[in-house]
Amino acid sequence: MPSGPPLPPEAFFSGSGLDRADLLRAQPDRLAELAARGEARQLAWADGIPLLDEEGRLTWDAIREPALFLGLDGNAPRFSPLPLTPPSGIAFGLLGQLEEADAPLFACALSLANWHGRHAFCSACGQSTDVVRGGWSRRCRACGAEHFPRCDPVVIMLAEHDGRLLLGRQPHYPPGRFSALAGFVEPGETIEAAVAREIKEEAGIEIADVRYIASQPWPFPSSLMIGCRARALDDRMTIDFTELDDARWFTRAEVAAALAGDAGTAFLAPPRFAIARTLLDDWLAA
Ligand SMILES: [Zn+2]
Repeated sequence: MPSGPPLPPEAFFSGSGLDRADLLRAQPDRLAELAARGEARQLAWADGIPLLDEEGRLTWDAIREPALFLGLDGNAPRFSPLPLTPPSGIAFGLLGQLEEADAPLFACALSLANWHGRHAFCSACGQSTDVVRGGWSRRCRACGAEHFPRCDPVVIMLAEHDGRLLLGRQPHYPPGRFSALAGFVEPGETIEAAVAREIKEEAGIEIADVRYIASQPWPFPSSLMIGCRARALDDRMTIDFTELDDARWFTRAEVAAALAGDAGTAFLAPPRFAIARTLLDDWLAA
């Protein structure tokens, strides 16, 4: 077999999940038939997020409201109701319990539900919209405009200078936590331009040689994290304290100790479900 470039590292929330069977979405009769099958199940929710059992697995109920067609688990159809309550906040504590094998489907269902919760009305004319295509679209009753679930690109990146990495602290982080800088890609911007702009804005650092490393769905509410690495041209920072509490350069040994969870490390590493963690692991392994 020819050997290609190495596969990107897999972040939490990424992976196969279900067969999305998108050709079935436009066939309401087929979806009704699938929902009536004995092995069909719908996702259980609590407080606006998918309900986890004691082992951190998703929980499935008998079909009552097959509003959203998530896909096929082998031959078993999987649906979700439209959750009645919006999520009350980002449940990071819960993410610590979520079993990695169920994380892709958790992200898909939560992101899709978040989108439905915010798009009951048409953004073109303001009238009510209906769920169509098995939950993968909404159509306006008045003007007929069709709206699709959105996904907002966010760049998240490590800047490297002379064997050290630039990491920052956002005000809401727990004490000691440092992580990769990040920001939304703006309209009219490439990924590379967004990486350069965010590092310049937040830390005053010019960069070059942006490289894509890995991506991650982030369902809070519906981002796609695009993980990159770049080369800093200088290490003299001008920190934007309206965005960050702090930013520092960390050596390879400091990063390795933080990821290993050693006592008395220079910083507290991002949690396993954050793509920043994947980027740091990848940098250390390189
Ligand atoms: Zn409309």
